[in-house]
Amino acid sequence: MDSQPSTSAEIIPLRPRPRIYTRSEHPISRKFISESALKVLYRLDKAGFQAYLVGGSVRDLLLGREPKDFDIATDALPEQVRELFRNCRLIGRRFRLAHVQFGNEIIEVATFRAAHDGETDGAAVTDDGRILRDNVYGTLDDDVWRRDFTVNALYYNIADFSIVDYVGGVEDLRAGRLRLIGQPEKRYREDPVRLLRAIRFATKLGFAMDSATLASIPKLRHLLESIAPARLFDEMLKLFLGGVGHQTFAALRHHSLFHCLFPLTDDALDSPDGEFAIRLIACALANTDARIAQDKPITPAFLFAALLWQNVEEAVAGLQANGVPMTEAMQLAADTVISKQVARIAMPRRFTNVTREIWALQPRLVKHIVKRAPRLTEHPRFRAAYDFLLLRAEAGDPVTEAAEWWTNYLAADEGGRAQLLENTRGTSKPRRHRRQRRRGGTANSPGGG
Ligand code: ATP
Ligand code: MG
Repeated sequence: MDSQPSTSAEIIPLRPRPRIYTRSEHPISRKFISESALKVLYRLDKAGFQAYLVGGSVRDLLLGREPKDFDIATDALPEQVRELFRNCRLIGRRFRLAHVQFGNEIIEVATFRAAHDGETDGAAVTDDGRILRDNVYGTLDDDVWRRDFTVNALYYNIADFSIVDYVGGVEDLRAGRLRLIGQPEKRYREDPVRLLRAIRFATKLGFAMDSATLASIPKLRHLLESIAPARLFDEMLKLFLGGVGHQTFAALRHHSLFHCLFPLTDDALDSPDGEFAIRLIACALANTDARIAQDKPITPAFLFAALLWQNVEEAVAGLQANGVPMTEAMQLAADTVISKQVARIAMPRRFTNVTREIWALQPRLVKHIVKRAPRLTEHPRFRAAYDFLLLRAEAGDPVTEAAEWWTNYLAADEGGRAQLLENTRGTSKPRRHRRQRRRGGTANSPGGG
């Protein structure tokens, strides 16, 4: 179509030509690409298809970072990809993709897609500009325009090891600039999750948003309310479990996007105890970031516990003031807070159950009724609950004494523990639960952890 003489250039717009960076003009070497991804690329190429590495992996390799995963774009149809690989599954309805599996590693292979423009295919876009379907196949030259940011729209060609850049992505990478492809407002309306992706990539890459990409955010942030809670859960994991969760939290708050994810939490942050809540969340995120850096396991349940703790505490206090006993108050408060929050972010029950247990164990850990200490440590959620207690102490909650007691208890050998239990017996009677005033910020918070 491009090469046909056109009498009406406004109907058939001329397409820009890509800038090609040859192998000697860029630093991506095959030795940084996973063997599995190379296998897929080569096999597609050998079968006569086009095969490109695309998206985050090209971006990260150009930045000298280790890619999280390797995505491939091709002109082979999903069924054709499946025929080439025995270890291949087709997934997705709205968005048919091939997953080629090598041990733990999954290589995602997507067929080039064409953008749905309101003008060319009104049916795929809602009145407010949102994309509903995205399954019309196209060429690389179609595919590039439906990607979000210029730095995410670079293609590494396995046929000649060049990089294909239609959108000035290489220059933006060099300049540390995050820029939406096309008109930002239109692109955000098509898919409001791009608002969150903008914050995520700017933070993770340390890039500055270009002025138009940035300027549309305040006007459009309400669009996030229309995003399905299940999708927001996926997005929340990427935002907070990507290794820079603490900075991402600050950036989301700065751009007033945090409210759409955690409305209850955001309201609590403005309450009289809000400073404590911010410190607790900051400590939890810093803690999670540190664990990710050390390749230690993490769970979103723990973050959920921190994000909503203030709301739970307030609800518990209200119930207790009405004479509801602690255990029951905690359970009721947890039910209320969690059910409100999952209406926004569909955290699966296997996680929210852990969050509840972490909360439910808090009063038991604070009382540390000596007789029950040994049994409590066997609770499957003891460790997480103890970590949460440490976090509260770090953020300035008056639970330092209990936190230290457990730390000593856990560090002691059998004899030491018996001794500790003996010493504590009598001195620690079950105390009445009283809300004490919190101390101000501790030296290493917020975010110093
Ligand atoms: P990460 O390192 O977090 O995986 P990524 O850039 O690979 O970053 P993915 O979410 O894995 O991000 O998506 C892969 C690619 O698909 C992106 O680089 C982008 O080109 C495209 N893409 C993903 N989500 C969208 C979206 N909502 N709108 C447009 N393009 C998108
Ligand atoms: Mg990716």
